[in-house]
Amino acid sequence: MTKSTYAPSKKISSFHPPQRTLMGPGPSEINPRVLAASSLPSIGYLDPIFVDMMDELKQLLRYAYQTHNQLTFPLSGPGSVGMESCFVNMVAPGEKVVVMRNGVFGGRMIENVQRVGGTAVVVDDEWGEPCDPQKLEDALKKNPDTKVVAFVHAETSTGAQSDAKTLVSIAHKHGALTIVDAVTSLAGTPVKVDEWNIDAIYSGSQKCLSCVPGLSPVSYNDAVIEKVKARRDTNRVQSWFMDLNLVLGYWGETTRTYHHTAPINSLFALHESLLLLKEEGLENSWARHMRHHLAFKAGLEAMGLEFLVKEAYRLPQMNAIRIPESLQKTEAEVRKRLLNEFNLEIGAGLGPLAGKIWRFGLMGYSCKPENVMLCLSALGSVLMDMGHPVKVGQAEAAAHSAYASMHASAAQAKLRAAA
Ligand SMILES: *Cc1c(COP(=O)(O)O)cnc(C)c1O
Repeated sequence: MTKSTYAPSKKISSFHPPQRTLMGPGPSEINPRVLAASSLPSIGYLDPIFVDMMDELKQLLRYAYQTHNQLTFPLSGPGSVGMESCFVNMVAPGEKVVVMRNGVFGGRMIENVQRVGGTAVVVDDEWGEPCDPQKLEDALKKNPDTKVVAFVHAETSTGAQSDAKTLVSIAHKHGALTIVDAVTSLAGTPVKVDEWNIDAIYSGSQKCLSCVPGLSPVSYNDAVIEKVKARRDTNRVQSWFMDLNLVLGYWGETTRTYHHTAPINSLFALHESLLLLKEEGLENSWARHMRHHLAFKAGLEAMGLEFLVKEAYRLPQMNAIRIPESLQKTEAEVRKRLLNEFNLEIGAGLGPLAGKIWRFGLMGYSCKPENVMLCLSALGSVLMDMGHPVKVGQAEAAAHSAYASMHASAAQAKLRAAA
Protein backbone atom coordinates (compact mmCIF):
# COMPACT_ATOMS: atom_id res chain seq x y z
CA MET A 1 0.00 0.00 0.00
CA THR A 2 1.30 3.48 -0.74
CA LYS A 3 1.59 5.95 2.06
CA SER A 4 -1.41 8.25 2.37
CA THR A 5 -0.62 11.79 1.38
CA TYR A 6 -2.82 12.86 4.27
CA ALA A 7 -0.44 11.37 6.83
CA PRO A 8 1.65 13.84 8.89
CA SER A 9 5.04 14.48 7.33
CA LYS A 10 6.93 13.74 10.55
CA LYS A 11 6.72 11.23 13.36
CA ILE A 12 4.40 12.62 16.02
CA SER A 13 4.53 11.62 19.66
CA SER A 14 2.57 12.83 22.72
CA PHE A 15 2.88 16.54 23.34
CA HIS A 16 4.72 17.55 26.50
CA PRO A 17 5.01 21.30 26.96
CA PRO A 18 7.96 22.62 28.97
CA GLN A 19 7.42 24.07 32.44
CA ARG A 20 7.38 27.84 31.96
CA THR A 21 7.10 30.69 34.40
CA LEU A 22 4.23 32.73 32.95
CA MET A 23 4.59 36.46 33.56
CA GLY A 24 2.98 37.82 30.45
CA PRO A 25 -0.48 39.37 29.96
CA GLY A 26 -2.12 35.94 30.34
CA PRO A 27 -2.44 33.03 30.42
CA SER A 28 -1.18 32.82 33.98
CA GLU A 29 0.14 29.71 35.69
CA ILE A 30 -2.42 27.22 36.93
CA ASN A 31 -2.57 25.85 40.47
CA PRO A 32 -2.03 22.04 40.45
CA ARG A 33 -5.39 21.62 42.21
CA VAL A 34 -7.09 23.24 39.22
CA LEU A 35 -5.20 21.08 36.72
CA ALA A 36 -6.09 17.99 38.74
CA ALA A 37 -9.78 18.95 38.72
CA SER A 38 -9.74 19.37 34.95
CA SER A 39 -8.37 15.86 34.46
CA LEU A 40 -11.20 14.12 36.33
CA PRO A 41 -13.55 11.89 34.30
CA SER A 42 -16.12 13.72 32.23
CA ILE A 43 -19.80 13.38 33.07
CA GLY A 44 -22.82 14.54 31.12
CA TYR A 45 -23.76 18.21 31.02
CA LEU A 46 -27.24 17.33 32.31
CA ASP A 47 -26.04 14.83 34.93
CA PRO A 48 -27.71 15.90 38.19
CA ILE A 49 -24.30 15.98 39.88
CA PHE A 50 -23.01 18.29 37.19
CA VAL A 51 -26.09 20.47 37.51
CA ASP A 52 -25.43 20.83 41.26
CA MET A 53 -21.86 21.85 40.45
CA MET A 54 -23.17 24.50 38.02
CA ASP A 55 -25.16 26.02 40.84
CA GLU A 56 -22.05 26.19 43.04
CA LEU A 57 -20.15 27.77 40.16
CA LYS A 58 -22.76 30.50 39.91
CA GLN A 59 -22.57 31.15 43.65
CA LEU A 60 -18.77 31.31 43.60
CA LEU A 61 -18.85 33.67 40.63
CA ARG A 62 -21.29 35.95 42.45
CA TYR A 63 -18.74 36.10 45.25
CA ALA A 64 -15.89 36.91 42.82
CA TYR A 65 -17.97 39.65 41.18
CA GLN A 66 -19.51 40.87 44.48
CA THR A 67 -23.02 40.68 43.10
CA HIS A 68 -26.43 39.20 43.75
CA ASN A 69 -27.18 39.09 40.02
CA GLN A 70 -28.92 35.78 39.35
CA LEU A 71 -27.54 35.71 35.84
CA THR A 72 -23.87 35.25 36.71
CA PHE A 73 -22.26 32.31 34.95
CA PRO A 74 -19.36 31.25 32.70
CA LEU A 75 -19.84 31.53 28.94
CA SER A 76 -18.23 28.81 26.81
CA GLY A 77 -15.42 30.70 25.15
CA PRO A 78 -12.52 33.02 25.95
CA GLY A 79 -12.81 36.60 27.18
CA SER A 80 -13.48 37.73 23.61
CA VAL A 81 -16.71 35.73 23.66
CA GLY A 82 -17.75 37.55 26.84
CA MET A 83 -17.12 40.84 25.06
CA GLU A 84 -18.98 39.81 21.94
CA SER A 85 -21.90 38.40 23.94
CA CYS A 86 -22.41 41.75 25.68
CA PHE A 87 -22.47 43.72 22.43
CA VAL A 88 -24.49 41.29 20.37
CA ASN A 89 -27.19 41.05 23.05
CA MET A 90 -27.27 44.62 24.30
CA VAL A 91 -26.79 46.64 21.11
CA ALA A 92 -29.56 46.45 18.52
CA PRO A 93 -28.87 47.66 14.96
CA GLY A 94 -28.96 51.43 14.75
CA GLU A 95 -28.29 52.04 18.44
CA LYS A 96 -25.64 54.44 19.62
CA VAL A 97 -22.83 53.28 21.90
CA VAL A 98 -20.14 55.41 23.53
CA VAL A 99 -16.90 53.43 23.63
CA MET A 100 -13.99 54.67 25.75
CA ARG A 101 -10.68 53.70 24.15
CA ASN A 102 -7.32 53.89 25.94
CA GLY A 103 -5.70 50.75 24.53
CA VAL A 104 -6.14 47.66 22.37
CA PHE A 105 -9.25 46.25 23.98
CA GLY A 106 -11.29 49.46 23.75
CA GLY A 107 -10.50 49.26 20.02
CA ARG A 108 -12.02 45.79 19.86
CA MET A 109 -15.17 47.09 21.51
CA ILE A 110 -15.58 49.61 18.67
CA GLU A 111 -15.23 46.79 16.17
CA ASN A 112 -17.94 44.86 18.04
CA VAL A 113 -20.36 47.81 17.98
CA GLN A 114 -19.88 48.26 14.24
CA ARG A 115 -20.33 44.58 13.47
CA VAL A 116 -23.67 44.40 15.27
CA GLY A 117 -24.85 47.40 13.26
CA GLY A 118 -24.55 49.95 16.04
CA THR A 119 -23.03 53.42 15.85
CA ALA A 120 -19.88 53.86 17.91
CA VAL A 121 -19.09 57.24 19.41
CA VAL A 122 -15.42 56.92 20.31
CA VAL A 123 -13.87 58.74 23.25
CA ASP A 124 -10.10 58.46 23.07
CA ASP A 125 -7.54 58.76 25.80
CA GLU A 126 -3.77 58.37 25.63
CA TRP A 127 -2.53 54.79 25.91
CA GLY A 128 -1.28 54.47 29.49
CA GLU A 129 -3.88 56.92 30.83
CA PRO A 130 -7.23 55.94 32.38
CA CYS A 131 -10.55 56.77 30.67
CA ASP A 132 -11.42 60.38 31.47
CA PRO A 133 -14.85 60.75 33.18
CA GLN A 134 -15.16 64.37 32.02
CA LYS A 135 -14.82 63.28 28.39
CA LEU A 136 -17.58 60.72 28.94
CA GLU A 137 -19.83 63.39 30.43
CA ASP A 138 -19.18 65.64 27.43
CA ALA A 139 -19.79 62.83 24.91
CA LEU A 140 -23.10 61.91 26.55
CA LYS A 141 -24.25 65.54 26.60
CA LYS A 142 -23.54 65.71 22.87
CA ASN A 143 -25.19 62.33 22.24
CA PRO A 144 -28.29 62.14 24.44
CA ASP A 145 -29.61 59.19 22.39
CA THR A 146 -26.77 56.93 23.61
CA LYS A 147 -28.06 53.52 24.73
CA VAL A 148 -24.88 51.91 26.03
CA VAL A 149 -21.51 53.02 27.42
CA ALA A 150 -18.63 50.55 27.19
CA PHE A 151 -15.13 50.67 28.64
CA VAL A 152 -12.27 48.49 29.80
CA HIS A 153 -11.71 48.52 33.55
CA ALA A 154 -8.15 47.18 33.42
CA GLU A 155 -6.48 47.85 30.05
CA THR A 156 -4.07 44.93 29.68
CA SER A 157 -2.26 46.53 26.76
CA THR A 158 -1.04 49.42 28.93
CA GLY A 159 -1.48 48.46 32.60
CA ALA A 160 -3.85 51.35 33.39
CA GLN A 161 -6.98 51.05 35.51
CA SER A 162 -10.01 53.28 35.03
CA ASP A 163 -12.49 54.45 37.67
CA ALA A 164 -15.36 52.09 36.87
CA LYS A 165 -17.65 53.38 39.61
CA THR A 166 -17.51 56.98 38.38
CA LEU A 167 -17.84 56.06 34.70
CA VAL A 168 -20.89 53.88 35.41
CA SER A 169 -22.59 56.59 37.46
CA ILE A 170 -22.12 59.12 34.64
CA ALA A 171 -23.55 56.66 32.11
CA HIS A 172 -26.59 56.05 34.31
CA LYS A 173 -27.18 59.76 34.84
CA HIS A 174 -27.63 59.93 31.07
CA GLY A 175 -29.83 56.84 30.89
CA ALA A 176 -27.32 54.47 29.27
CA LEU A 177 -26.56 50.87 30.20
CA THR A 178 -22.95 49.90 30.85
CA ILE A 179 -20.67 47.16 29.54
CA VAL A 180 -17.48 46.71 31.57
CA ASP A 181 -14.47 44.62 30.56
CA ALA A 182 -13.03 43.08 33.73
CA VAL A 183 -10.92 40.42 32.02
CA THR A 184 -7.70 41.45 33.74
CA SER A 185 -9.12 43.10 36.85
CA LEU A 186 -11.31 40.32 38.29
CA ALA A 187 -9.60 38.83 41.40
CA GLY A 188 -6.54 41.07 40.94
CA THR A 189 -8.03 44.43 41.93
CA PRO A 190 -11.46 45.29 43.40
CA VAL A 191 -14.43 44.70 41.09
CA LYS A 192 -17.73 45.46 42.85
CA VAL A 193 -20.59 44.87 40.46
CA ASP A 194 -23.48 45.71 42.82
CA GLU A 195 -21.83 48.58 44.66
CA TRP A 196 -20.79 50.20 41.36
CA ASN A 197 -24.14 49.39 39.67
CA ILE A 198 -22.52 47.76 36.64
CA ASP A 199 -25.12 46.41 34.19
CA ALA A 200 -23.07 43.91 32.20
CA ILE A 201 -19.57 42.66 32.92
CA TYR A 202 -17.33 39.96 31.50
CA SER A 203 -13.99 38.43 32.41
CA GLY A 204 -11.68 35.61 31.35
CA SER A 205 -10.63 32.42 33.10
CA GLN A 206 -6.90 32.62 32.34
CA LYS A 207 -5.85 35.91 33.91
CA CYS A 208 -6.16 36.57 37.67
CA LEU A 209 -8.49 33.58 38.12
CA SER A 210 -5.61 31.34 36.96
CA CYS A 211 -7.85 28.73 35.41
CA VAL A 212 -7.50 26.98 32.07
CA PRO A 213 -8.20 29.39 29.17
CA GLY A 214 -11.47 29.28 27.26
CA LEU A 215 -14.14 30.42 29.72
CA SER A 216 -15.66 33.84 30.18
CA PRO A 217 -17.49 34.53 33.45
CA VAL A 218 -20.23 37.12 32.89
CA SER A 219 -22.82 38.86 35.02
CA TYR A 220 -25.92 40.70 33.84
CA ASN A 221 -28.39 42.67 35.93
CA ASP A 222 -32.17 42.86 35.47
CA ALA A 223 -32.02 45.88 33.18
CA VAL A 224 -29.93 43.89 30.71
CA ILE A 225 -32.19 40.84 30.92
CA GLU A 226 -35.21 43.04 30.29
CA LYS A 227 -33.63 44.53 27.20
CA VAL A 228 -32.57 41.13 25.86
CA LYS A 229 -35.98 39.55 26.52
CA ALA A 230 -37.62 42.36 24.55
CA ARG A 231 -35.57 41.22 21.55
CA ARG A 232 -36.87 37.65 21.69
CA ASP A 233 -39.39 37.85 18.87
CA THR A 234 -38.70 40.99 16.94
CA ASN A 235 -35.23 42.42 16.48
CA ARG A 236 -33.66 39.04 17.29
CA VAL A 237 -30.07 38.83 18.50
CA GLN A 238 -27.95 38.13 15.38
CA SER A 239 -25.90 35.34 16.96
CA TRP A 240 -27.70 32.08 17.63
CA PHE A 241 -24.87 30.79 19.83
CA MET A 242 -24.69 33.90 21.99
CA ASP A 243 -28.38 34.85 22.20
CA LEU A 244 -28.95 35.03 25.95
CA ASN A 245 -32.60 34.17 25.46
CA LEU A 246 -31.45 30.72 24.37
CA VAL A 247 -28.40 30.36 26.65
CA LEU A 248 -30.72 31.02 29.60
CA GLY A 249 -32.42 27.69 28.93
CA TYR A 250 -29.26 25.98 30.19
CA TRP A 251 -27.77 28.49 32.67
CA GLY A 252 -30.93 30.29 33.86
CA GLU A 253 -32.71 29.82 37.17
CA THR A 254 -35.42 27.36 36.27
CA THR A 255 -34.45 25.09 33.41
CA ARG A 256 -31.48 22.98 32.35
CA THR A 257 -32.11 22.19 28.74
CA TYR A 258 -29.59 21.49 26.01
CA HIS A 259 -28.25 24.51 24.20
CA HIS A 260 -24.67 23.51 23.42
CA THR A 261 -22.35 20.99 25.07
CA ALA A 262 -20.79 22.72 28.05
CA PRO A 263 -16.98 22.54 28.30
CA ILE A 264 -17.35 20.04 31.15
CA ASN A 265 -13.75 19.58 32.26
CA SER A 266 -12.91 23.26 31.95
CA LEU A 267 -15.87 23.97 34.23
CA PHE A 268 -14.48 21.47 36.78
CA ALA A 269 -11.31 23.56 36.65
CA LEU A 270 -13.16 26.86 37.06
CA HIS A 271 -15.03 25.48 40.06
CA GLU A 272 -11.69 24.63 41.71
CA SER A 273 -10.04 27.95 40.86
CA LEU A 274 -13.01 29.89 42.27
CA LEU A 275 -12.93 27.71 45.36
CA LEU A 276 -9.23 28.60 45.78
CA LEU A 277 -10.20 32.27 45.51
CA LYS A 278 -12.91 31.81 48.14
CA GLU A 279 -10.47 30.00 50.45
CA GLU A 280 -7.89 32.76 50.11
CA GLY A 281 -10.54 35.48 50.38
CA LEU A 282 -11.10 38.12 47.71
CA GLU A 283 -9.59 40.93 49.79
CA ASN A 284 -6.52 38.81 50.51
CA SER A 285 -6.15 38.10 46.81
CA TRP A 286 -6.24 41.84 46.03
CA ALA A 287 -3.69 42.47 48.81
CA ARG A 288 -1.41 39.71 47.51
CA HIS A 289 -1.37 41.25 44.04
CA MET A 290 -0.44 44.61 45.55
CA ARG A 291 2.25 43.16 47.84
CA HIS A 292 4.16 41.35 45.09
CA HIS A 293 3.70 44.25 42.71
CA LEU A 294 5.35 46.58 45.25
CA ALA A 295 8.33 44.25 45.70
CA PHE A 296 8.62 43.82 41.92
CA LYS A 297 8.43 47.59 41.44
CA ALA A 298 11.21 48.16 43.96
CA GLY A 299 13.40 45.73 42.02
CA LEU A 300 12.64 47.19 38.60
CA GLU A 301 13.26 50.72 39.81
CA ALA A 302 16.56 49.64 41.35
CA MET A 303 17.56 48.61 37.81
CA GLY A 304 16.68 52.11 36.62
CA LEU A 305 13.53 50.97 34.78
CA GLU A 306 10.39 53.11 34.67
CA PHE A 307 6.68 52.37 34.58
CA LEU A 308 4.53 53.56 31.68
CA VAL A 309 1.55 54.28 33.93
CA LYS A 310 1.39 56.76 36.79
CA GLU A 311 1.15 55.23 40.26
CA ALA A 312 -2.39 56.48 40.96
CA TYR A 313 -3.96 54.20 38.33
CA ARG A 314 -1.29 51.54 37.86
CA LEU A 315 -2.47 47.93 37.84
CA PRO A 316 -0.54 45.68 40.24
CA GLN A 317 -1.24 42.62 38.10
CA MET A 318 -0.05 44.18 34.81
CA ASN A 319 3.26 46.02 34.97
CA ALA A 320 4.09 47.97 31.79
CA ILE A 321 7.74 49.05 31.77
CA ARG A 322 9.34 51.52 29.35
CA ILE A 323 12.12 49.81 27.42
CA PRO A 324 15.31 51.87 27.76
CA GLU A 325 16.16 53.74 24.53
CA SER A 326 19.36 51.74 24.01
CA LEU A 327 17.48 48.42 24.06
CA GLN A 328 14.49 49.27 21.87
CA LYS A 329 16.08 47.82 18.73
CA THR A 330 17.01 44.54 20.43
CA GLU A 331 14.11 44.15 22.84
CA ALA A 332 12.81 41.02 21.09
CA GLU A 333 16.19 39.42 21.86
CA VAL A 334 15.66 40.15 25.57
CA ARG A 335 12.29 38.36 25.56
CA LYS A 336 13.71 35.48 23.57
CA ARG A 337 16.57 35.00 26.01
CA LEU A 338 14.26 35.14 29.02
CA LEU A 339 12.20 32.37 27.41
CA ASN A 340 15.07 30.21 26.20
CA GLU A 341 17.50 30.62 29.08
CA PHE A 342 15.12 31.09 32.00
CA ASN A 343 11.86 29.52 30.79
CA LEU A 344 10.26 32.85 31.56
CA GLU A 345 7.52 34.37 29.41
CA ILE A 346 6.87 38.11 29.50
CA GLY A 347 4.71 40.20 27.19
CA ALA A 348 5.61 42.57 24.36
CA GLY A 349 4.02 45.95 23.68
CA LEU A 350 1.05 46.14 21.31
CA GLY A 351 0.10 48.70 18.65
CA PRO A 352 1.79 52.07 19.19
CA LEU A 353 3.57 50.62 22.23
CA ALA A 354 5.21 47.74 20.30
CA GLY A 355 8.97 47.89 20.91
CA LYS A 356 8.41 50.61 23.52
CA ILE A 357 7.26 48.61 26.56
CA TRP A 358 7.48 45.21 28.16
CA ARG A 359 4.48 43.86 30.02
CA PHE A 360 5.07 41.83 33.17
CA GLY A 361 2.01 40.05 34.47
CA LEU A 362 1.64 39.14 38.13
CA MET A 363 -1.70 37.43 37.77
CA GLY A 364 -3.36 34.90 40.04
CA TYR A 365 -1.19 31.87 40.71
CA SER A 366 1.70 33.56 38.88
CA CYS A 367 1.64 36.31 41.50
CA LYS A 368 4.09 34.88 44.04
CA PRO A 369 7.45 35.83 45.51
CA GLU A 370 9.48 33.20 43.67
CA ASN A 371 8.29 34.61 40.34
CA VAL A 372 9.12 38.17 41.40
CA MET A 373 12.64 37.13 42.39
CA LEU A 374 13.23 34.92 39.34
CA CYS A 375 12.09 37.64 36.97
CA LEU A 376 14.24 40.35 38.53
CA SER A 377 17.22 38.04 38.54
CA ALA A 378 16.74 36.79 34.97
CA LEU A 379 16.05 40.25 33.59
CA GLY A 380 19.07 41.71 35.39
CA SER A 381 21.27 38.95 34.05
CA VAL A 382 20.11 39.36 30.44
CA LEU A 383 20.19 43.16 30.51
CA MET A 384 23.70 43.22 31.95
CA ASP A 385 24.87 40.73 29.39
CA MET A 386 23.46 42.93 26.64
CA GLY A 387 25.43 45.90 27.87
CA HIS A 388 22.78 47.70 29.88
CA PRO A 389 24.25 49.27 33.04
CA VAL A 390 22.69 47.18 35.80
CA LYS A 391 24.45 45.44 38.65
CA VAL A 392 23.32 41.88 39.21
CA GLY A 393 21.86 41.54 42.69
CA GLN A 394 20.77 45.15 43.09
CA ALA A 395 17.18 44.53 42.03
CA GLU A 396 16.84 41.44 44.20
CA ALA A 397 18.17 43.35 47.21
CA ALA A 398 15.63 46.13 46.66
CA ALA A 399 12.78 43.62 46.34
CA HIS A 400 13.90 41.80 49.49
CA SER A 401 13.94 45.00 51.50
CA ALA A 402 10.50 45.97 50.13
CA TYR A 403 9.18 42.61 51.32
CA ALA A 404 10.89 43.08 54.69
CA SER A 405 9.37 46.52 55.24
CA MET A 406 5.92 45.24 54.27
CA HIS A 407 6.29 42.36 56.73
CA ALA A 408 7.37 44.78 59.44
CA SER A 409 4.44 47.14 58.89
CA ALA A 410 1.99 44.22 58.72
CA ALA A 411 3.37 42.91 62.02
CA GLN A 412 3.03 46.35 63.60
CA ALA A 413 -0.57 46.64 62.40
CA LYS A 414 -1.29 43.24 63.93
CA LEU A 415 0.22 44.34 67.26
CA ARG A 416 -1.82 47.56 67.20
CA ALA A 417 -4.99 45.62 66.49
CA ALA A 418 -4.26 43.24 69.37
CA ALA A 419 -3.50 46.04 71.86
C1 LIG B 1 -7.21 39.10 27.47
C2 LIG B 1 -8.22 40.19 27.34
C3 LIG B 1 -9.36 40.06 26.54
C4 LIG B 1 -9.59 38.88 25.64
O1 LIG B 1 -9.63 37.70 26.32
P1 LIG B 1 -9.35 36.32 25.52
O2 LIG B 1 -9.54 35.29 26.56
O3 LIG B 1 -7.94 36.43 25.01
O4 LIG B 1 -10.32 36.23 24.42
C5 LIG B 1 -10.28 41.09 26.56
N1 LIG B 1 -10.09 42.19 27.29
C6 LIG B 1 -9.00 42.36 28.07
C7 LIG B 1 -8.85 43.61 28.87
C8 LIG B 1 -8.03 41.37 28.11
O5 LIG B 1 -6.95 41.53 28.86
